Amino acid sequence: MERIGIYGGTFNPPHIGHILAASQAIETLKLDKLLLIPDRIAPHKDLPDNSATPEQRLEMLRIAAAGIPKMEVSSLELDREGPSYTFETVSQLRLRHPQAELFLLMGADMFLSFENWHRAEQIAREVTIAVAYRGDKGEREAIEAQKNLLEEKGYRILVLENPVHSISSTQLRRLLAFHCAGEFLPKGVEDYILSNGLYDTAADWKNLPMEQLERVVVSLLKPSRVAHVLGCRDTAVELAKRWGADPTDAARAGILHDITKALDGPLQLTLCAAYGKILDDFSRKYPKTLHAFTGALVAERIFGENPRVVSAIAHHTTGKAEMNVLETIIYVADYMEPNRDFPGVEQLRQLAFQDLYGALRLGLEMTLEHLKQQGSEVSSQSREALEWLTGQDARQPL
Ligand code: FE
Ligand code: FE
Repeated sequence: MERIGIYGGTFNPPHIGHILAASQAIETLKLDKLLLIPDRIAPHKDLPDNSATPEQRLEMLRIAAAGIPKMEVSSLELDREGPSYTFETVSQLRLRHPQAELFLLMGADMFLSFENWHRAEQIAREVTIAVAYRGDKGEREAIEAQKNLLEEKGYRILVLENPVHSISSTQLRRLLAFHCAGEFLPKGVEDYILSNGLYDTAADWKNLPMEQLERVVVSLLKPSRVAHVLGCRDTAVELAKRWGADPTDAARAGILHDITKALDGPLQLTLCAAYGKILDDFSRKYPKTLHAFTGALVAERIFGENPRVVSAIAHHTTGKAEMNVLETIIYVADYMEPNRDFPGVEQLRQLAFQDLYGALRLGLEMTLEHLKQQGSEVSSQSREALEWLTGQDARQPL
């Protein structure tokens, strides 16, 4: 009996994680053929504005799968109008291959919500569900429970442990915007994206007016971080007016300070490698602290910001010795913007308008205390910042 795998998705864009997962499924399930099927319109999913068209996604998938044995790209869902429902795809394939054993590949998140799929029962009658997951703790129990539940209904389910650390397409689009996605894309797909300027790779984001800058920044952040970043910008402007710094610099540094924060530790390292930056041991050990460093790189290279803005972003997490007014403003604004809520924040907010460096010192002390409680190391820059503030003993108010 012919064994056919079905791997649907948006593939916006297709990347190496998809191809690895597909290759693994071919091997593990001993498939004669795996069909990669991009959707026309994903049900229940809005795509970001800068997405590739369905035809471009199909073309990129063809490039990605070209020459790989047993992998085929199908335009089945593109050839239909309207939302791409899996039950329709499965019944079309069943008609074409009445004798075949069909395997429907899906990720853990999809599997856990399978019963909410349109005509889930109809799908399950025709296919064996093959769940790919990374073996993350916690997820395993949820998958087992769901498997038991669905098996009682007579569904056929296989769980594939998938050691591939696959990047999400959302993260990949961020990397594309920062010009460092190369290692996650088949070469031909990268060339296609660049030559067609997809995913904002041809956009010129240098010196954007604030309104446009805000739109771009919001598109690159996790939604949960947007309020913080806008709050930091507005607070930085207030502080700049109070302390005689340039409000435009303050606004731009404020809105860009966490621009790379959505990248996890390994992706911070990816960005540094792509930009040719060699890191110290502390940064390697704590790659999450790198977002200030990488944010500054992106502010300079992608957004064309001036050295004052770049430096303020670079030092917003650790501080450093000899901080200038703008650097201090961004450090403090990040700490006290209106969405921050922790014991002592009100004191910090008052102090920031009376004694800016006093507020800096308070922020540094609170951070060090927090790190101590967590048992984490303190960066040498933070220690130097505090020593500098202490050495200046009661720094003159500006
Ligand atoms: Fe930050
Ligand atoms: Fe921040």
